[in-house]
Amino acid sequence: EAHPSIPHLAILPSPGMGHLIPLIEFAKRLLSHHRLTFTFIIASDGPPSQPQQALLNSLPSGIHHLFLPAVTFDDLPPNSKIETIITLTISRSLPSLRNVLKSMVSQSNLVGLVVDLFGTDGFDIAREFDISSYIFFPSTAMFLSFALFLPKLDESIVGEFRDHPEPIKIPGCIPIQGKDLLDPVQDRKNEAYKWTLHNARRYALADGIFLNSFPELEPGAIKYLQEEEAGKPLVYPIGPLVKIDADEKEERAECLKWLDEQPHGSVLFVSFGSGGTLSSAQIDELALGLEMSGQRFIWVVRSPSDKAADATYFSVHSQSDPLDFLPEGFVERTKNRGMVVPSWAPQAQILSHGSTGGFLTHCGWNSTLESVVNGIPLIAWPLYAEQRMNAVILTEEINVALKPKRNDNKGIVEKEEISKVVKSLLEGEEGKKLRRKMKELEEASKKAVGEDGSSTKIVTDLVNNWKAKIST
Ligand code: UDP
Repeated sequence: EAHPSIPHLAILPSPGMGHLIPLIEFAKRLLSHHRLTFTFIIASDGPPSQPQQALLNSLPSGIHHLFLPAVTFDDLPPNSKIETIITLTISRSLPSLRNVLKSMVSQSNLVGLVVDLFGTDGFDIAREFDISSYIFFPSTAMFLSFALFLPKLDESIVGEFRDHPEPIKIPGCIPIQGKDLLDPVQDRKNEAYKWTLHNARRYALADGIFLNSFPELEPGAIKYLQEEEAGKPLVYPIGPLVKIDADEKEERAECLKWLDEQPHGSVLFVSFGSGGTLSSAQIDELALGLEMSGQRFIWVVRSPSDKAADATYFSVHSQSDPLDFLPEGFVERTKNRGMVVPSWAPQAQILSHGSTGGFLTHCGWNSTLESVVNGIPLIAWPLYAEQRMNAVILTEEINVALKPKRNDNKGIVEKEEISKVVKSLLEGEEGKKLRRKMKELEEASKKAVGEDGSSTKIVTDLVNNWKAKIST
């Protein structure tokens, strides 16, 4: 590990599988072309979950991990939001992070600490040891531009952003309604807003921010982020980084075999990410809409939640059998052209299958990128987090998605609308236009991460810089 010519990076993921996975992919990507070592430093408030442990145990050589002592939250009110808990896990782990970095600095060529969007408190410790601080930002350039702009916005707008009469002009981005901004800024009195602002203010202290995007996908925002300006950190677009999860050992899933039998580009994939849930009324309507469309589909169904759209954030799997919540006779009536999969499906493999022709998605950024690299046009159905912002990029800026209209009186999207949008995506002229545009982006994404591509070059330059640093 202490090899003189091998740079070592410490990575501090904030809690949650959704934060750990992209950082692991980031490390793997760097390792695939360069000689480096990584150590994942895991902060938490308890023992690792089973999936987390399994994931950490399966890391390739070159990626190590260790656990910091668990922190306690006995003093927090029980209704504390996720952003608060995540940030406090990091800040309360700083003394043990200091110990760990201290020994790494003495034993290896530690060149930097990489955190994610909630881990900026770690920067202070990196400074103490004179190593660089980086952020891996697993979302859009628009979200990053927003975060860098938030301290100003916080001073200039009084009251809730959602009540602001004008659309908000994030630098480099198309104007966006306050109500479409990410969830934690929707209630400025909540602690979660305070912590989001706290991290956002500290983004400027980073020596660099690695962004999982590429210029053709978000031209305006990336151009803005890369213009030099006092107080703006260096931004490195290194995407698209997507998970390649074809596990050869496992038997091919039933839905993939079913896809083999379907005509090219004919199937709509319907999924709301790892945490998305719909109300029971909306599940009924979506089922009837899919049926009415007469199109083929694979639908990852979760049990309904009438409380929160992110009800399964930490659990993924529904408590009860999700298929019990579908309309009477639906599975039987659609069995020749539809398939319902409870809770979880091999999404990356489904999206890269030739029979898949469209994706009805919650617009999570990983799902979006997985669609882009396969040239699959979208139906945008955002639920929470920054997904409404992503939907704005997809539908209004790069035009690769249709957005079904909600009946605001009923608070749901009705079956007629769903059917119309699904048909239009898979069979209509509109769908053809979106598909052509998505194919262009697919090409551009392949170029970006290919030999001599923009993302590849940026990574090579970074690694060369680290190597130069340790040889002097
Ligand atoms: N995913 C999957 N199967 C599912 C649901 C999700 O493999 O049934 C994967 C998906 O391929 C993606 C990730 O989980 O890599 C979801 O990330 P995203 O950013 O789209 O949404 P989030 O789950 O964070 O809301």
